[in-house]
Amino acid sequence: MALPDVFNYFLPVAAVAIVLEWLWLTRRLHRPYRGREVGRNVVLWLGYEGLTWLTGGLFIVIGLWGYEHRLLDFGYSLGAFVALFFVEDFVMYATHVLKHRCRFFWAADHEVHHSSSEFNFTTAFRNSPLAPLSGAWLAWPMLCLLGFPPAMVFFQASLSRAYQCFTHTSTVRRLPAAIEWVFVTPSHHRVHHAKNPAYIDKNYGGILIIWDRIFGTFQAERDDIPCEFGVLSEFDTSRVGRVVFHGLGSMIADIRRRRGLAAKLGTIIRAPSWTPASEGGQTLGTDELR
Ligand SMILES: [Zn+2]
Ligand SMILES: [Zn+2]
Repeated sequence: MALPDVFNYFLPVAAVAIVLEWLWLTRRLHRPYRGREVGRNVVLWLGYEGLTWLTGGLFIVIGLWGYEHRLLDFGYSLGAFVALFFVEDFVMYATHVLKHRCRFFWAADHEVHHSSSEFNFTTAFRNSPLAPLSGAWLAWPMLCLLGFPPAMVFFQASLSRAYQCFTHTSTVRRLPAAIEWVFVTPSHHRVHHAKNPAYIDKNYGGILIIWDRIFGTFQAERDDIPCEFGVLSEFDTSRVGRVVFHGLGSMIADIRRRRGLAAKLGTIIRAPSWTPASEGGQTLGTDELR
C-alpha cells in the first residue's frame, strides 16, 4: 500500500504559515523575525534533511527486516491506523524524554533544536544535522518488528512531524480547553522550549499531551511566568558550526576531564546537567530547580 510522505506535502502550508507569522509579528508586535536566526534555522534544516536522506535507506532496510520478522500482524485496517497513531505518539514521547534526560542524545541530537532564544515557526526546522547519526530513530523501525507495515509507520511519523511544526509559535495564545487538554498546542510547546525553572523538562508530547498528563511531566503555561526560550548552558549561537558541535564538544571535554569510569559513563548516559559527587552531584534541569 502506497502512503504519502505528509511532511513534504505540508511544506507549502508551512511556508504560508511562516509568512503570515512574520507579518503578524511585524505589524502587531513590531517584533519581526531576526533574519540571521531564521537563516541559521534554514541551514540547520537543510543539513538535517541531507543526513536524513542518507540514513533513510537504513531506516527502510531495518524496517523491512523488522516487518519480515514481525511479532504481530496489524495489516492496513482502520483499527491498525488508530492503534499506530497512539503507539507512534507514545514512542515520540518516550524518545523525546530520552533526548532530554540522557546527555548523549541531548548533545548529539536535541540541544540544537532548543538552542535558539527565538521561538517561531522556523524554530520547528532547527534540527541538528548530526541527529540522524544518534540512532534515536531506530525506535521507529521497531514498530515494524511489532507488526505495523513500514509504509504505515513512515506515514504516521511524517504526519506527526508536520503537526509538530504548528506548535512552534507565539502568535496563538490558547486554544479551546478541550483541545488544550488532549493535544499538544503552541502554549504547551512554548513551555517545553522555555528555560524558566518552572518549565524545565516538561511537555514532551508530539501530537498528544495526554502522555505528559499520565506520566507527570505536564506543565501548563502560566500568565505570571513569561517563557524565556533557550538552553541553560548559554553559549554563543551566532555560528552554525558552534551550534551543531557545542553539545558533543562539551560532553567530550567533561569525559576527558573527569576521573574514574563511573564519572565518565555518567557523563554520557545521565542527564545533561549531571555532575559526579566530586563536583557536587547535581542534576539541574529536573526537580531540583523547582
Ligand atoms: Zn525537546
Ligand atoms: Zn520544538
